[in-house]
Amino acid sequence: MGSALRQAPVQYVKMVGPRRSQVLARLSICSVWDLLYHFPRRHEDRTALQPVHTLSHGNVAAISGTVLGVEEKKPRRGLTVTTAALSDGLTTFSAVWFNQPYVARQMIPGAKLIITGRVSRTNGLVQVQAADYEVLGEGETLHTGRIVPIYPLTAGLSQRNLRLVMKSALDTLSGRLQEFLPAAILDRYGLTPLPGAMSEIHFPSTAEGLERARRRFVFEELFLLELGLLHKRKSIVQRARGFAMRPDGPLIGGFLERLPFSLTGAQKRSWEEIAGEMEDDKPMYRLLQGEVGSGKTVVAELALLKAVENGLQGALLAPTEILAEQHYLSLKKDLSPLGVKLDLYTGSTPRPRRQEILTGLATGGLQVAVGTHALLQEGVVFRRLGIAVIDEQHRFGVRQRAVMQEKGQRPDVLVMTATPIPRTLALTLYGDLSVTTIDELPPHRQPVKTYRAGRRNLGRVYQRVCEEVIAGHQAFVVCPLIEESEQMEDVQAAVDLHGHLQKGPLKNLRLGLLHGRLQAGEKEAVMAAFRENRLDVLVSTTVVEVGVDVPNATAMVILDAERFGLAQLHQLRGRVGRGPAPAICILVSGSRSTEACLRLTAMEKTADGFRLAEEDLKIRGPGEVWGTRQSGLPVFKIADLTADFRLLELARQEAENLLTGDPELRASGHMALREEVQARFAGMRSYIDVG
Ligand code: ADP
Ligand code: MG
Repeated sequence: MGSALRQAPVQYVKMVGPRRSQVLARLSICSVWDLLYHFPRRHEDRTALQPVHTLSHGNVAAISGTVLGVEEKKPRRGLTVTTAALSDGLTTFSAVWFNQPYVARQMIPGAKLIITGRVSRTNGLVQVQAADYEVLGEGETLHTGRIVPIYPLTAGLSQRNLRLVMKSALDTLSGRLQEFLPAAILDRYGLTPLPGAMSEIHFPSTAEGLERARRRFVFEELFLLELGLLHKRKSIVQRARGFAMRPDGPLIGGFLERLPFSLTGAQKRSWEEIAGEMEDDKPMYRLLQGEVGSGKTVVAELALLKAVENGLQGALLAPTEILAEQHYLSLKKDLSPLGVKLDLYTGSTPRPRRQEILTGLATGGLQVAVGTHALLQEGVVFRRLGIAVIDEQHRFGVRQRAVMQEKGQRPDVLVMTATPIPRTLALTLYGDLSVTTIDELPPHRQPVKTYRAGRRNLGRVYQRVCEEVIAGHQAFVVCPLIEESEQMEDVQAAVDLHGHLQKGPLKNLRLGLLHGRLQAGEKEAVMAAFRENRLDVLVSTTVVEVGVDVPNATAMVILDAERFGLAQLHQLRGRVGRGPAPAICILVSGSRSTEACLRLTAMEKTADGFRLAEEDLKIRGPGEVWGTRQSGLPVFKIADLTADFRLLELARQEAENLLTGDPELRASGHMALREEVQARFAGMRSYIDVG
């Protein structure tokens, strides 16, 4: 069906002229296909017709009646009131319409109507404010007396009009709808075939029929997405030949020997998986996920070393300068002694240095570059990039991954996230990646004890901070988050808090201050002082959120914790508990809002990022979770990832099975499906286009 109806302009539908087609275009409805796939936002059950005498004042109901007479009044300029007298056989009542003069023409005595609206009873007289009505004729009812579709609208288009247009499209064109989902799948999940589903989703015959039709379209949407993602991944992997690296050599051996600890079982398994894929000549395209503090950095270092060992270069991308700086320092400490040449490249690298680094990368003299978005710029050219590691993937978009890939002849790509996202979202966000999970923390880690405290108890909270410092440890105090648009105030709040703490509650301690407005050099100096334990407490805005690694820090105080999302809270808490000493996290909040309470309680109850992620999904819904909005989660027409995650998993499995048997969907039974996948993905390029 796809192509014909997709190409047929919506004017093809009876009742749609040039003017209406312009109005429809505002809803992105251009073709007949667009129109049919403009699904109702919800439905209203107006099936049950109720006898008027059973209705009380204030009820909203569907009522049938026969017209007795009609009267039109214009009580003042700009107001027309149409009142019809009706009878349902037992009771006489009236119905009113405001400013709908054309209604009067339809109220011919003897005509049968169904009216939906709110009932009022005054002095025994019943009146209905008509929200919708329908004059019953030969055909089917559309607007009332049935389950009625309620559509997303735009100016110049009413529910009634759109229903009529939709009905006309269905009547004349639904015969041309052709099923494209494989019959076996329809059978397996009891999904309604396309033509029937299309008419049920708009004008359901029963509540069950509607539910089944909805299920079909949700499955269809998710299935096509997964097919597209998986196909994309397979074609990247098949098309390109990457570097086939040699098995681990002396450089990696030396690195492992020098490590002050041995790898955890999970780190070993992850590395085997990654190394194996790097040795394969197909380019790697993999997500490494693991809880905060699970030790992903070591695995990233191994991957970079492996490239170097093979005469290639490596790049490590971080979302913020502070994190890039951190990574650079740990890489310098771990890799320089092995003779690896590496450097840091960010937006604030001074010009002359920049030129030097660029030359080093272009000639191959520089083996590893650590940096921020700056590394993605066009001028950055690698001689032989073997691997790109992208940290905190959720802070980057799908596009950035693609840009990094373009910087070499199909380098391996390893993206890392410490922000586990629910499986359901991972499938759609990272559906084109294979996944390695570090599911074990280094030994002797104790879960961070998390408490909530009211603002009244701040004295006690700071007391606790002092105790940690006296015991030889360090602490973070995170300032209240202020709207992003007011970054200046954010900084001011941090400055004020720092002053206040230094004068009062933390008077005798060595305090540092970190916020986004500091010069790069100043930031580095503060971080270095904190890392080297020359500062006891770091007062900071959320710039410490990601990746900061100071194992001696054991207390995290988050002020106005209710302002943060779960992902952020979890990341912030992850800054402590990175060494062997027990650590605490105190969430200070005065809020009573239920959503905030749910979040803070979730934080108290669990340290497991995956569980928190699922929790967050429940509390807030997918669009808001884990910053997925920026990362380009696709916009669904009908699927709701919170409610439909089961179907998403099924869709994923089915897509995998299907592509295993018929990778290019060339089988004769799959032609229509193939066409459909292509057409849908054409509209999603910005999301899907990964190289
Ligand atoms: P994340 O996964 O959050 O990036 P990191 O790689 O920063 O975690 O590791 C957190 C801390 O744990 C670091 O201080 C690191 O040196 C340490 N670490 C990593 N692996 C191990 C291990 N196998 N045994 C002990 N400590 C480890
Ligand atoms: Mg990390």
